[in-house]
Amino acid sequence: MAQTKMLGFVHTGQRMPDKRKAELRAQDFQEIYARFSDQSAQEQAGRCSQCGVPFCQVHCPVSNNIPDWLKLVAEGRLEEAYEVSQATNNFPEICGRICPQDRLCEGNCTIEQSTHGAVTIGSVEKYITDTAWDMGWVKPIQPTRERPQSVGIVGAGPAGLAAAEQLRKKGYEVHVYDRYDRPGGLLIYGIPGFKLEKEVVLRRWQNMEKSGIRFHLGFEVGRNATLTELRLRHDAVLIATGVYKARDLEGPGAGLDGIVPALDYLTASNRVGLGDTVVDYENGTLNAAGKNVVVIGGGDTAMDCVRTAIRQGAKSVKCLYRRNRANMPGSQREVAHAEEEGAEFVWQAAPEAFLGDARVTHVRAHKMHMGVADATGRQTPMPIEGSAFTMEADLVIKALGFDPEDMPGLFGDKSLKVSRWGTVQINHRTMMTNLDGVFAAGDIVRGASLVVWGIKDGRDAAEGIHRFIQTSQAAVERPVAVAAE
Ligand code: FAD
Ligand code: SF4
Ligand code: SF4
Repeated sequence: MAQTKMLGFVHTGQRMPDKRKAELRAQDFQEIYARFSDQSAQEQAGRCSQCGVPFCQVHCPVSNNIPDWLKLVAEGRLEEAYEVSQATNNFPEICGRICPQDRLCEGNCTIEQSTHGAVTIGSVEKYITDTAWDMGWVKPIQPTRERPQSVGIVGAGPAGLAAAEQLRKKGYEVHVYDRYDRPGGLLIYGIPGFKLEKEVVLRRWQNMEKSGIRFHLGFEVGRNATLTELRLRHDAVLIATGVYKARDLEGPGAGLDGIVPALDYLTASNRVGLGDTVVDYENGTLNAAGKNVVVIGGGDTAMDCVRTAIRQGAKSVKCLYRRNRANMPGSQREVAHAEEEGAEFVWQAAPEAFLGDARVTHVRAHKMHMGVADATGRQTPMPIEGSAFTMEADLVIKALGFDPEDMPGLFGDKSLKVSRWGTVQINHRTMMTNLDGVFAAGDIVRGASLVVWGIKDGRDAAEGIHRFIQTSQAAVERPVAVAAE
């Protein structure tokens, strides 16, 4: 057996996998990082000091057993590393690519705190599962027993898909309904390929189909069936529909042509990348080529729009954000990538009017100063009088965040309880809503959040559903079929 080689941080520096040069990567939608070589992965995993209290794990939403799989990688025991890694996370290769590690596991790594540079946990996690796919270790689920009950899951984003897998492992008949034509939710149509290549999501879909999970695509709950109908069809229902109501811009000219919502823009780009024909991309409405682009917002969505516009061949790309860099919600790593690729950030600036006749031609903005802190301790930006300035803009992309749609109205069930923000209310211990047998998970409960939190919620909801079905009066055991070994 290979020898344990840990605590390598004392002699080995932090190294990320190779990153493609900005001018090259800005020309396509492929991921920007290569995969670690076997040797680099072993060396980087071996930098871990195997903390008694691993803060990396504490700050990982799915409580990944990080020190254990790092040790196994350092020892070259990759298949075991994969087994440990996938035990707590349904999509480790996706989280390894797109978790904001600087705010989660890596930001809390002990050796980062001691200024040696965090263990590159995300890149090692991605390496383990990409290798597992290459080696054929990722297999369709084969439940040891089939159960007679079925579960309906509304929404095929990370929350719904994680729940689907967990329930299928337990032997339930699982039906996933989604209004899109492909599963993945924001993984497929929101997040661009340069962060997450679509093949990575599509191979998961194929594996789930082989596992016996049934997908009903182009099926919108509210249009093709009501919630009540789904409840009659299944022993339990999970709502994992995400949040899609885009926050809007205000001010004169906000309705001009050429001002578009971020998700429309990103979805069009992702569809084109998947080979679909998108009329609004072809006719230029959702295409930045040759344009002066202004993106408004400072979160992950804004960063993705900025970097997509660069790849589409925009003439110039500016990102307008009302707070300063330190207070932006997006990942600092993503800002750095965008800057390297040629985006210009206009910090502490907010739009006040959109100019043009029918189409937008300019944005007038004013500078902001960071005002006094509110009750949460966050400073409120205030406009600076007389600071107005104007910039050219043929395409303005609104990336101001998302709110939940009107779920009770949409689902045709006014009794579904929602919070004052419109998120679905659940009992956080059981993950059940106020309706018996109806559960909820992911962004529709938390508000716009992260993929890894969606996975965590999906797993918790699957446990809640299992407990509910097993204890429910309605779940009278019927004879079960034993799956072939
Ligand atoms: P979603 O992924 O939104 O999936 C919900 C699904 O429900 C969709 O497929 C939708 O079609 C379906 N649906 C909705 N209503 C109905 C209905 N009535 N009937 C049937 N189906 C329905 N997070 C990160 O961790 N890292 C990132 O880098 C990152 N980048 C992001 C970039 C963008 C542009 C955006 C918008 C978000 C990003 N996020 C990122 C956040 C992350 O994508 C979400 O937190 C996560 O996808 C939420 O998962 P979910 O399953 O709750 O919902
Ligand atoms: Fe880090 Fe995300 Fe992986 Fe957890 S799931 S170890 S937070 S990259
Ligand atoms: Fe290893 Fe860092 Fe986690 Fe400690 S905090 S166990 S050094 S990865």
